[in-house]
Amino acid sequence: MAQKYDAVIIGAGIIGAAIAFELSKRGRRTLNVDMLPAAGYGSTSNSCAIIRVHYSTLDGTALAYDSYFDWVDWQNYLDCADESGFSVFHQTGCLVMKTAGNGGLKRVLKHVEALGIAHEHWGREQILRRLPHYDLSCFSPPKRMDEEGFGEPTGGEVQGGVFFPTAGYISDPQLATHNLQRAAEAKGGRFVFNRRVVEIVVAHGHVQGVILDDGTKVDAAIVINVAGPHSAKVNALAGADADMRISTKAVRQEVVHLPSPPDFDFGERGLVVSDSDIGIYCRPEIGNHVLAGSEDPECDGREVVDPDDFNRDFTDQWTTQALRIAQRMPKMGIPGRMSGVVDLYDVSDDWIPIYDKSCIGGFYMACGSSGNQFKNAPVAGKLMAELIEYGEAGNDHDSKPLQFALQHVDHVFDTATVSRLRKINPDSSFSVLG
Ligand SMILES: Cc1cc2nc3c(=O)[nH]c(=O)nc-3n(C[C@H](O)[C@H](O)[C@H](O)COP(=O)(O)OP(=O)(O)OC[C@H]3O[C@@H](n4cnc5c(N)ncnc54)[C@H](O)[C@@H]3O)c2cc1C
Repeated sequence: MAQKYDAVIIGAGIIGAAIAFELSKRGRRTLNVDMLPAAGYGSTSNSCAIIRVHYSTLDGTALAYDSYFDWVDWQNYLDCADESGFSVFHQTGCLVMKTAGNGGLKRVLKHVEALGIAHEHWGREQILRRLPHYDLSCFSPPKRMDEEGFGEPTGGEVQGGVFFPTAGYISDPQLATHNLQRAAEAKGGRFVFNRRVVEIVVAHGHVQGVILDDGTKVDAAIVINVAGPHSAKVNALAGADADMRISTKAVRQEVVHLPSPPDFDFGERGLVVSDSDIGIYCRPEIGNHVLAGSEDPECDGREVVDPDDFNRDFTDQWTTQALRIAQRMPKMGIPGRMSGVVDLYDVSDDWIPIYDKSCIGGFYMACGSSGNQFKNAPVAGKLMAELIEYGEAGNDHDSKPLQFALQHVDHVFDTATVSRLRKINPDSSFSVLG
């Protein structure tokens, strides 16, 4: 006997769980299916989980700012109990260096000013007051370890930055996803783990349900692809890739964990820093560590992989990133034993997500999160739920895209900007910064 739900959500990462929560609140009977043993065990578990508001487009900025309010008010937003406790938002703020590479942040400032987002201009002295262990020499443009001049200053100093107080990081991204699972379940949502969706049943151009790897058949008139780095495979399973003008692919990433330098307790006193002069972002990590990820400078290339078969060992990328962050923190020691994470981004052609319907009736997608949508899970859940209600009510979302009014920010989000049919957005950073 087939099981029957209103909606099957493929994936139980942070975004899949948030969509379940919002659809359940609207009275839809949802089932999340995940091939891993628990919620948030996929790319979400290795997320740096940085919450920040600086994005290269106005709509991207508005989405991130809207979600900030749910992270601040996490337990009220969830409205449920969780026996595992709740994830914590460490609101350290974020300092973004003004560099040649980001045009002195002019475009970002235009967006944050339009949306009334708090920010402060910090000069050299103020940066060094907060980060006294920093060397502000310019190293730009970022280079690979094997390139001539790597690690050598290129003249002058970073002259300042913009500090955003509405930023920080989530202590435990997997726990945040568990919280959302419990919130969805409290509203009637169901989750099944250790099961892979191996077939998506389509008849007469409309999705009918899915078949799992143990042969279970689940009937549903709505199926949503929130499969993270597997999104392209899942779209192909449904035949939903037929009309997509924006594609997604799994891109391998390494994140470095290093002990704080001896001259500064970064774990306690640090903050999120986005530094395109050295091509690195960093944040405090538990145990007085520094976590450092790549801002994807051109020289690093993009390592597209098969999400079912990729190298989980550290490579030269780890060493390059460790040496880059040590350019700023010269007293930082680099241990012989590498520590950090290796995981995948689900990257779209312009590093902006796809939150959309598809050419198959009832089949929707929330994918292409491009290493920068953990923070947007709360708003992505609401957006997708509203988009699904809009589509299921018979509206033609492709010709008349949903205009989505944000809950906490006075901004109407044009969902055409996250359509699978859009043109590549030239305003994007084409990097993890979105
Ligand atoms: C190293 C790293 C650092 C990051 N840092 C940040 C950051 O600082 N800030 C930020 O905002 N974002 C960050 N991100 C991005 C963010 O983590 C992702 O955008 C977000 O976690 C994606 O959530 P998701 O639910 O879409 O996907 P995932 O968490 O990848 O979940 C997808 C799930 O689908 C399941 N699945 C796939 N195929 C199937 C199938 N056929 N059947 C059943 N289950 C299936 C998988 O098992 C997986 O659990 C980072 C990502 C990485 C990898």
